[in-house]
Amino acid sequence: MALKFSVLASGSTGNAIYVEAEEQSFLIDAGLSGKQIEGLFQQINRDIKTVNGIFVTHEHADHIKGVGILARKHKIPVYANTKTWKAMEPLIGDISPELKFNFEMEKVISFGSVDVESFGVSHDAAEPMFYIFHHEGKKLVTITDTGYVSNRMVGQIKNADYYIFESNHDVEMLRMGKYPWNIKRRILSDVGHVSNEDAAYAMSECIGDQTKGIYLAHLSKDNNMKELARMSVSQVLEEKGFIVGEQIALYDTDPKIPTALRAV
Ligand SMILES: [Zn+2]
Ligand SMILES: [Zn+2]
Repeated sequence: MALKFSVLASGSTGNAIYVEAEEQSFLIDAGLSGKQIEGLFQQINRDIKTVNGIFVTHEHADHIKGVGILARKHKIPVYANTKTWKAMEPLIGDISPELKFNFEMEKVISFGSVDVESFGVSHDAAEPMFYIFHHEGKKLVTITDTGYVSNRMVGQIKNADYYIFESNHDVEMLRMGKYPWNIKRRILSDVGHVSNEDAAYAMSECIGDQTKGIYLAHLSKDNNMKELARMSVSQVLEEKGFIVGEQIALYDTDPKIPTALRAV
């Protein structure tokens, strides 16, 4: 069975990504209420009870809101690194020891024929990291909360089949917008979120012969719009010589509507 995924929800109101392969299925983050995530599973015709693990990226509420409730209700194992466990434990309630697993940064854990790899990002949390899925030569990269994309990260995430990539804000909208200055400064910093342009420059370094598409994720609801994100990213990619729409497809994600299941 092919590696498949759906971005169930993406944005500052809550994030969750569904991945499946070979009778196994996983969630990256569960940043909405348990009920909302169960509803999203119904929309993609999948059963949350069969999930083999929730991989937590970092302890911000938009990534962990439903982790505790779903783990307890459906007995789903939860994976996170030691520092993230420490930071999120007081926030998600008791998780029984048999459902608690460590997944340290820069490690690979194999689930049957699926290799899950973690890599560090630059974001204002205890020890934020994201996950890469490898299966039968295919590669799916998720990266939705980082202030910048380092050369080291580019090396790790290069030439994936698909990317779920942060395209958080339009710099002008953020600068002109209503957010207080300290919040603006946080978002624009190296440990905040990447802008449409910065995302596009990073992606242009990552795209390889295997790359088919990019899902633009974690769009700010106040400082971005789907069309603007797509346009800004396309423009940079085309400047860099890629043919958007033919060579590389760009896809929207939504805070409430899951993307159609895609085989990688
Ligand atoms: Zn975050
Ligand atoms: Zn976030």
